[in-house]
Amino acid sequence: MGQPFNSEKFRNSLVNYLNHLGYHNPTTSQQPLWQAVCLAIQDQLPKTSPKKAFASRHVNYLSMEFLLGRLTLNNLQNLGWTESIRNKLQEYDVQLVDLLECEHDPALGNGGLGRLAACFLDSMASIEQPATGYGLNYQYGLFRQSFTQGQQTESADDWDRDHYPWFCQSPIPAVEVGFGGQVHSKNGILQWIPDFQVIGKAHDIAIIGYRNHHQQPLRLWHASHPHPFNLKAFNLGHYANAESNAIEAEKITKVLYPNDNHAAGKRLRLMQQYFQCTCAITDIIYHHRQAGRPLAELPKYEVIQLNDTHPAIAIVELLRQLVDLYQWEWADAWQLTQQLFAYTNHTLMPEALECWDLHLFKRLLPRHYQLIEQIDAWFSATLKNHPDKQHYKTSNALLIKGHGKIRMANLSVIGSYAVNGVAKLHSRLVTEELFPEYAKLWPTKFTNVTNGITPRRWLLMCNPKLAELLNDTIGEQWQHDLSYLQSLENHLDNASFLQDYQDVKQSNKNNLAALIAQTTGIEINPEAMLDVQIKRLHEYKRQHLKLLHILALYQQLKTHPDPNLPPRVFLFAAKAAPGYDLAKNIIYAINQVAAVINHDPAVNQQLQIVFMPDYRVSLAEKIIPAADLSEQISTVGKEASGTGNMKLALNGALTVGTQDGANIEILDHVGAEHIFIFGQTVESARQLWQNEYHPEQILANNPQLQDILTLLKDGTFAQGNKQAFKPLVESLTTAGDPYLVLADFASYLDIQNKIDVRYQHPTTWFRSAAINTARCGIFSSDRAIRDYQQRIWLSDAQRIKG
Ligand SMILES: *Cc1c(COP(=O)(O)O)cnc(C)c1O
Repeated sequence: MGQPFNSEKFRNSLVNYLNHLGYHNPTTSQQPLWQAVCLAIQDQLPKTSPKKAFASRHVNYLSMEFLLGRLTLNNLQNLGWTESIRNKLQEYDVQLVDLLECEHDPALGNGGLGRLAACFLDSMASIEQPATGYGLNYQYGLFRQSFTQGQQTESADDWDRDHYPWFCQSPIPAVEVGFGGQVHSKNGILQWIPDFQVIGKAHDIAIIGYRNHHQQPLRLWHASHPHPFNLKAFNLGHYANAESNAIEAEKITKVLYPNDNHAAGKRLRLMQQYFQCTCAITDIIYHHRQAGRPLAELPKYEVIQLNDTHPAIAIVELLRQLVDLYQWEWADAWQLTQQLFAYTNHTLMPEALECWDLHLFKRLLPRHYQLIEQIDAWFSATLKNHPDKQHYKTSNALLIKGHGKIRMANLSVIGSYAVNGVAKLHSRLVTEELFPEYAKLWPTKFTNVTNGITPRRWLLMCNPKLAELLNDTIGEQWQHDLSYLQSLENHLDNASFLQDYQDVKQSNKNNLAALIAQTTGIEINPEAMLDVQIKRLHEYKRQHLKLLHILALYQQLKTHPDPNLPPRVFLFAAKAAPGYDLAKNIIYAINQVAAVINHDPAVNQQLQIVFMPDYRVSLAEKIIPAADLSEQISTVGKEASGTGNMKLALNGALTVGTQDGANIEILDHVGAEHIFIFGQTVESARQLWQNEYHPEQILANNPQLQDILTLLKDGTFAQGNKQAFKPLVESLTTAGDPYLVLADFASYLDIQNKIDVRYQHPTTWFRSAAINTARCGIFSSDRAIRDYQQRIWLSDAQRIKG
């Protein structure tokens, strides 16, 4: 049920806001109109949600990233006000669709991890799991991407946070956060005297539940300095330095680090992490005490969920506040801490596991360093009578590793009562490969919660035509419980339903084709199979394997034209981290190959390649409903879960994928006939790596592969420049092909041939597509949140009762 909408009140607020912005009628320029509309909608939201008696603890979701995407239509839809606002605006001759394009995506995240946090907020509000999201209010989100002569260029993402209309007043007191300095001992009591302090101010965004009159905050912190202008310094004649502290403080929340699955180890990043954690912990304790509850009861009412290790210092900060500010005994404080935290692991890849340099850490957070040494000592003490004591002392279980590094994943496991991976395979590997020692010590600590996506954004909002077809076919219940999609199974033999399903896909493709023409100038064939790989650019995600497939087809068509090969459009969208040279070289290679193939009449009736720039949530929303084939081809064991795979399958793209992450669970649910699985298994890949994998042997035995690599080396796609793709070619050859691209190549070509055959039978293809929609209800983030409730968030007593 939607919330009541007051049309008269809306009109009055709208006019007021426009006047305030200096405009005098609603048909003015779109950008201020969009702002005024959002502010006028916000005026009608209740300031607080009705308090209800909840079964589970309040969740504090700590994440350095929230990749929200546009909120305007999402909020309207969740409120049930879309039609009212659309009609109201039409009175002024304004189209809602046009207005929505004014919103620049809030892109406070890199990719899957940040988007997961955003989906979880939507689900927690929608199923009324009380929660607060805690993050940072970056001035610049993830960089914007464009291409210059095929190369990625980055520019700053100024999303104009100071005028973003979905922020609302936050009554939260500011927080002081210290850095550096010394720890002094005074009468046996330790006292941390920081070198400098910054102020954290809360900026809230209301997360609105789906048609349930419920909302709860995403609290983003902004750093500034208590004395923005140092008068003393100014009077002493240090004009230039008078503002320096303010500048230092503002730096902390200036920009999101643009690395996905890669830890850079920079001081400023550590400052961001500590700043966020201190603000969040202070706020959590403040609200708990405001409610008149004793600190000792914190774990009875609250849980703190760590989205990866980025906010792991929160564990040490809570310990510090209990010991230093509230004078708790260390052991009591540590026991309470361990009852409060739960940790979600997102990766096994060594370069992504954060380790902080001990000296850097000690200089910035000297008191926290002491506490980490005490945690380390506590861990050693727990092993005192353990038969494998010697093993643990030299193993990966150590909190502080040789060479003076603090391992944040180890801190997270030791400091939490629950640890989860994000798909079944990944959770198994967390215990078998990453933390075997901890899993043996604390077997019940580890669990799995497979990721999910919110069906509000990723179906109802982005694919209105499919949503309408579903409503007409099975009713609207699926909007509240996605498992209802199962009832589509009853319609799979209904030819008119399947035709409608196919028509929806075609219509979405036509819309995307128009957008592609507008943004890239390329006229795609909207009848062709739309084959998409959209995700961050990373070696392990293997966009270069896709490129090898394209080159194989190119070569085949050049030497043996084959009019029966069904036409395909290969669509890429991906950002590479600015410092990741190989990833950037792969982007360049794809763009260069595209430029040649798209202009070659011998092949361009059957092969077209589009690389859409600036991949982001609002672009994903336009690509996903149109896709036929979803490329999920990561090296086995490397993609923890993936969520792009779920969005695409739900919207009726068939998956071609490895047995990795949640692909395996998609396979289990849709059935082997309706997905295309290829490549090594985790076990066979492990064998290859252990027995020294030899890509050069694969190459020696495969003339087709040799020819393809020659194309990349002989300048064909780079105006004769033979060095253009050197990093890419080297990674596949001299660097030993660490991600098994060549090992999976033959199997990949083989499955792609089967896909071509299948696509030539539209009725079978679209029946499979509809089956994907029917069977992917399990991948709703509502289900994921219920799993967190059952497996992690409920207290023991609640779990037993439930
Ligand atoms: C869903 C999503 C991702 C994650 O995609 P994967 O294929 O799971 O890596 C990244 N970026 C955006 C914008 C997304 O919407």
